Amino acid sequence: MAKPVIFSVDDDPSVLNSVERDLRSHYGQDYRIIPINSGKAALDYLQKLEQRNETVALFLVDQRMPEMSGTEFLAEAMQTYPQAKRVLLTAYADTQAAIASINEVGLDYYLMKPWHPPDEKLYPVLDELLEDWKIHVRLPYEGIRVAGTLWSLASHEVKDFLTRHQIPYQWLDIEKDASARKLVEGVTSEIKLPVIFFPDGKTLIEPDLKTLADKVGLQTRAELPFYDLVVIGSGPAGLAAAVYAGSEGLKCLVIERAAPGGQAGSSPKIENYLGFPTGISGDDLTRRAVSQAKRFGVEILSAQEAVQIEVKDAYRIVKLKDESQISCHAVLMATGASFHKLKMPGADALTGAGIYYGAAYTEAVNYKDQRVFVAGGANSAAQGALYLSRFASRVTVLIRGREPTASKYLVDAMSGNEKIEILLNTDLMEVKGTNTLEQIVIRNNHSDESQTCDASALFVFIGVRPQSQIVSGLVMRSDKGYIFTGPDVMTDKKPPRGWTLDRDPFLLETSAPGIFAAGDVRYGTNHRVASAVGEGAIAYALIKEYLKGL
Ligand SMILES: Cc1cc2nc3c(=O)[nH]c(=O)nc-3n(C[C@H](O)[C@H](O)[C@H](O)COP(=O)(O)OP(=O)(O)OC[C@H]3O[C@@H](n4cnc5c(N)ncnc54)[C@H](O)[C@@H]3O)c2cc1C
Repeated sequence: MAKPVIFSVDDDPSVLNSVERDLRSHYGQDYRIIPINSGKAALDYLQKLEQRNETVALFLVDQRMPEMSGTEFLAEAMQTYPQAKRVLLTAYADTQAAIASINEVGLDYYLMKPWHPPDEKLYPVLDELLEDWKIHVRLPYEGIRVAGTLWSLASHEVKDFLTRHQIPYQWLDIEKDASARKLVEGVTSEIKLPVIFFPDGKTLIEPDLKTLADKVGLQTRAELPFYDLVVIGSGPAGLAAAVYAGSEGLKCLVIERAAPGGQAGSSPKIENYLGFPTGISGDDLTRRAVSQAKRFGVEILSAQEAVQIEVKDAYRIVKLKDESQISCHAVLMATGASFHKLKMPGADALTGAGIYYGAAYTEAVNYKDQRVFVAGGANSAAQGALYLSRFASRVTVLIRGREPTASKYLVDAMSGNEKIEILLNTDLMEVKGTNTLEQIVIRNNHSDESQTCDASALFVFIGVRPQSQIVSGLVMRSDKGYIFTGPDVMTDKKPPRGWTLDRDPFLLETSAPGIFAAGDVRYGTNHRVASAVGEGAIAYALIKEYLKGL
C-alpha cells in the first residue's frame, strides 16, 4: 500500500527545505513527504495523487504566498481531500488570517514560524493530528477503479469483462458520486465512458477489450508461430479439448473473443453437472478449467476474436480481428452460441441501459428492490430469474409458450419463490425509454390483450444462435448456422464434395479436413455443459488421430 502523503507548500525555498527536512526525519518512515513551492503547482499535483487514488493525511501550508494564500489553497484542496488535516504556517502578522481560516477551511491548527525546536513545537502538534486522522480516515480502494454510468453499454462490457476474468475492481457511478464525476472530468473533457483508473496512475478512456486485456496483464498474443491445435472459443467444449490436448503434450492455443467460460461461465449455479451435488457456479467451473489447462501448458488468449480460417495444404491459418494470424495443423470450432437480439425499435439503443442479454450478473445488484423482467423459458432464463430475485423486488418471467421448457428442478424453484411471477403465452411487443429502459409492452397471445408495464430492466434469454459465421464459406452448416460434422456431412454414404482424404470425416470433423466442431455450435448437440465437455474431449481424441495421419 502506498504511504499516505504529508503535503507541504511554501514559496520560500529555504523554509520549504527546512520543513521538508524536519518532516522527513520524523515521519519519513510512515508517510511520503511532498514539498511543493507554489499553491497552483500543488493543486495540479493533488489531481495526480487523486487519479492514483493516493491519500493525503496532512497539509502543512504557508499562509503568505504570492499566487494564492495558504487559506485559498486549503479551500481548494479540501474539496479533493476533505479528511486530510490542515495546518497553516504563519508569521505573527498573519495570525488574524489564520484565526479566520479556522472557520473558512476548517483549519486544525496554525503554527507560528519559526517552529524550532520541532520536538517541542512541531511534532507534538502533528503527531496528535495524524493520530486523529488515522482513527477516522477511510482509506481508499487500492485496485482498479471503473468510473461510468449504469446506462453506458461500454461500462457494462468492461465490468463484465473484468468480472469474468475474476479481476477485482471498484465501480464508481458518476451519476451518484460527485467526486467520481470530478475524477472523470479531470481526464476527459468529452466525458467518454468508462474511464478506468489503475493503481499506477494510468487511465484508459473507453478502451476496447483488447487494450484493457493488455493493460491488466492478460495474454492477448500467441507465444509460438505454430501450434498443433488451435481451439476457437473457451467455453466448456473448448476448455475440455484444451485440457486433454495440453495434458498429452500438444502445443495448444485457445482463442477467446471475450473472457473464458462461455455461456456456462455466466451461470450462477450449474446444478446438473456430474460430480457437483450442490451445484457449481460458472465462475468457479471456469476458474478451475482455466488453471487446469494452463497447468498443462495451454495458452489462452483473451479479447481476441477469430474472424477467418484458411486452409493451405496441411496448414490451417486462423486470422484474428487485429489482423494477426496463427498457423496450426488442426482447428476446433468451439464457438458455442449466443442469445438472439431483440428485433424491435429502440432495443439496440437501450442495450446496456436496462436491456441485457444473458444473465449480466454484474448488473443484477443495481436493481435492488426494483421490478425486472426476464424474457425466455429455458434453463438459462430460469437461473437468471432465480438469481435476480435475490435483489429485485419482483421478477416477471415472460414465456411465449404454454409452459416453461426449463428443467423441473428450476421450474419448481421458480414456483416456490414468492418474488417470481411467470406469465405464460406472453409475447414481448415493445420496449420504451429515452436514455434507459422505462416500460415494456407485453401481449397475451391467447387473449390478445396487451399491457404496458413499468420496467427497470429486461434480461433477455430468448433463442440461441450458433456462432459459426467465421466458417460460413468453408464448412457445411444447417439453415440456422449449426456446423455439420461426421455422418451429417455425408451424402449417400459419400464424403462431401472437395473432401481430399481417403477416409470418411471423423465423428466431430467438419466437411473441411482438420477442422473439427464441438459443443453448442455443432449440429445435433444437446446444449448442456456436460455435452459440451464430452464433445470437447471426444474432439481431442479425433484430432489426435488426424494429426497422426499427417
Ligand atoms: C445463463 C446460462 C445458464 C446455463 N446453465 C446451464 C446448466 O445449469 N446446465 C447445463 O448443462 N447447461 C447450462 N447452460 C448451457 C451451457 O452453458 C452451454 O450448453 C455450454 O456453455 C456450451 O458450451 P460451448 O463450449 O459449446 O459454448 P459456449 O459456452 O457458448 O462458449 C463459446 C465461447 O466461444 C467464444 N467465441 C465465439 N465466437 C468466437 C470467435 N469468433 N473468436 C473467439 N472466440 C469466440 C465465445 O465468446 C464463448 O466464450 C446455461 C447457459 C446459460 C447462458
